[in-house]
Amino acid sequence: MVLGHLTVTSAGRRLAQQGVPRLFVPLGPLLLGAYLPDILDKPLSMLLGLPGRSFGHSLVVEAAVFGVAALALPGSRRIVGPIALGVALHLLEDWVKAVVLLAPLLGPIPPSARWSFMESLVYFYSAGGPLVWLEVGAALYWMGVGIGWRTNTSS
Ligand SMILES: [Zn+2]
Repeated sequence: MVLGHLTVTSAGRRLAQQGVPRLFVPLGPLLLGAYLPDILDKPLSMLLGLPGRSFGHSLVVEAAVFGVAALALPGSRRIVGPIALGVALHLLEDWVKAVVLLAPLLGPIPPSARWSFMESLVYFYSAGGPLVWLEVGAALYWMGVGIGWRTNTSS
């Protein structure tokens, strides 16, 4: 779900803000959070041989980190909150297994098969699971937004 974190998260933000116009979530911090678990875990996987979804994909670890950040930096809550929301959406979009999501509470994270980026990509998109369809739906949504924008600006 490489592009899905971008398309699904930003579509969800747009739809939420259309439903609740007073709601404002800054896009930059939200998207940073939407990629943060992978930004943390993928390099650690390559360098240290940890699973591709490790402590960066742990809701427990992320809640502790963002809880401490919000308490230690009260002036930055407008940034920390959207990043934390983006992380939570990433974990939901990845449909992370409970043993990783609640790590380290349920014991060590089990090792996983080491796949290349391309192998992971091919497996994800050829499996045709619900996350693929969520990503397809988000892509169609953005195409519709683009067509609507072109139609409205060309008349
Ligand atoms: Zn991920």
